[in-house]
Amino acid sequence: MNIIVNDIDDHNDHTMNDYRFNLLPPFRAMIVNHVASHVSKLFTKLNERYNKKHSPKGQMEMYKGTALALFINLVEQKTEDVIAAGFFKEAMIKTIVEHVTELLPIDVQENILVLFSNAKFSLMKDIMVYLAHAENFEEYKAFIKDPTTFAKTWITKLTNDVMFERKGNVETKYADLANSRVHKIFCHLLESIHEANENCSQLGQSNVKQWIDYFLKHVGEYNYLPLSNDILIHVQSRKVSDIGNFTKMLLDDLKDTESIVLRTFQTTTASTVQWNESPIPKIMNRLWGCEAKCMFCYEPCKNTDRDHISLGFPHQCIQHRPKGIRGFSWYRTDKLLVDFCNYSVSTDSKYKWNKDDEREEWKYYKDYKKFHPDWDILPSSDVSRYWMWVVCKYQQEFAKMYGVKLPDIPVNWWTITKEQAIESISITS
Ligand SMILES: [Zn+2]
Ligand SMILES: [Zn+2]
Repeated sequence: MNIIVNDIDDHNDHTMNDYRFNLLPPFRAMIVNHVASHVSKLFTKLNERYNKKHSPKGQMEMYKGTALALFINLVEQKTEDVIAAGFFKEAMIKTIVEHVTELLPIDVQENILVLFSNAKFSLMKDIMVYLAHAENFEEYKAFIKDPTTFAKTWITKLTNDVMFERKGNVETKYADLANSRVHKIFCHLLESIHEANENCSQLGQSNVKQWIDYFLKHVGEYNYLPLSNDILIHVQSRKVSDIGNFTKMLLDDLKDTESIVLRTFQTTTASTVQWNESPIPKIMNRLWGCEAKCMFCYEPCKNTDRDHISLGFPHQCIQHRPKGIRGFSWYRTDKLLVDFCNYSVSTDSKYKWNKDDEREEWKYYKDYKKFHPDWDILPSSDVSRYWMWVVCKYQQEFAKMYGVKLPDIPVNWWTITKEQAIESISITS
């Protein structure tokens, strides 16, 4: 300000100029005022700039940039580790779920088969007991006409009930079976991860490719999971910065990984289950096997081996049934026949498949082998009380079903109770 005031005085004194005018006090005041406001703004700016550079806050602001650069760099490295660990987790979940899904039908099969200690006989007995209690002729009809299909439907329902029935908060049997498979795999997995890490650190190696090699070698030695390099290709392509840290992340996340795998099986129900290979055909093959049924009474062959004929063993039944159950009736009276076929083959009785077909010949029951060489019907007077009870209970329905007249049932058959009928099945074995 002094500079301005002095300059104006010099001007008015005209010592340094020849101007013929003087600067008046109001102008001087205006100039001083203008400059003062400009200077004030300028000084404030300069002050701010200084503070920004040298104050603690300013210093911090400047450091922020460097810190951010460092941070980004570090995060990028860590991100690589995190991404690699994430890929590893995904690969493990996918492979273990697939592997366990593939193995579960075997476990399911074993768990169902043990329920039938006497194989086909046990299954048939369970079905017959069920039918006796259900008291539904339509179901009897289905079992008599096509016992194999009936048994298959029965086994399917039983398998679903046993595997997926949830009692309260208890896990399903299916989840339980999966759990024991999954848990064993994760115990091994823990060892393989440790092993890979130890090998890497002992040999001073810090690249993820080497880690994966050691890991796969251990998995292969214990042969608990079908794993190959391809499955871990995405893990291998990451630039893992710290193998120790990478390993730690895998181990820290292992419990969570196991829970995710288990959840897949815990939430599976009978309607959502996707069998890699349905266990039903295999259960049926082991339990039911031969699908032949007696030509006279429709009782299923007792053999569980499908190939028993080629091995030299004929079809045989544990017991036979009154022939009316298969639709046989007397030639003249048209009454439903209640003789058992294993009795008929010991007599001189004859039969004809189609009574109205004049071209068809009458045949002796005892000559059945001429026409059915693969069958063995042991002549016996043993009779099934179960099927006697069935004939008594459903004689009307059988007569209607085959379009014939009511049978002449021996009086002693009527005294058989349902309980005695059921009990007689066990005696048969
Ligand atoms: Zn028979
Ligand atoms: Zn057979």
